[in-house]
Amino acid sequence: MLSLTFADCTPLYLFDENKKIIGNIHSGWQGTTKKIAKKAIQFMKEKYNCNPKDIICVIGPTIRKCHFEVKQDVRDIFYKEFSYMNNINDIIEFSEETKSYFIDTVEINKNLLREEGILEENIIDSKICTVCDSNIIHSYRKEGEEAGRNTALISLI
Ligand SMILES: [Zn+2]
Repeated sequence: MLSLTFADCTPLYLFDENKKIIGNIHSGWQGTTKKIAKKAIQFMKEKYNCNPKDIICVIGPTIRKCHFEVKQDVRDIFYKEFSYMNNINDIIEFSEETKSYFIDTVEINKNLLREEGILEENIIDSKICTVCDSNIIHSYRKEGEEAGRNTALISLI
């Protein structure tokens, strides 16, 4: 069984039903800017000869655009890496009200998976936001230093 802990970062559960290969990817904001989702799929292709059409990816609970608020410095890092994406203006939005940016890291991860050939129907989004849904799951942003951690588990049976 593969496990990782997270509080707002994005867990990506990968499963190739044909090759019986699993992956458990911790895509924090910095890992997202380093395209860890893309690297994981490339690794599965190269190391295990996986066909991307066979890989299912579940996007677990994570902080979403509604709550992933950043300042100019972090926005610039994301913009530098992802400005080529055709929906970048939806992915990074400026809020006049808060004078800050809101970033959709889930959509970035979906785009990275699409770039590697993962089929749309095989990208399954939990749609859970760790901040909005903090009554059922831990969030570092919401709970601060004392925040508990969530565990993402995946195993072959
Ligand atoms: Zn939210």
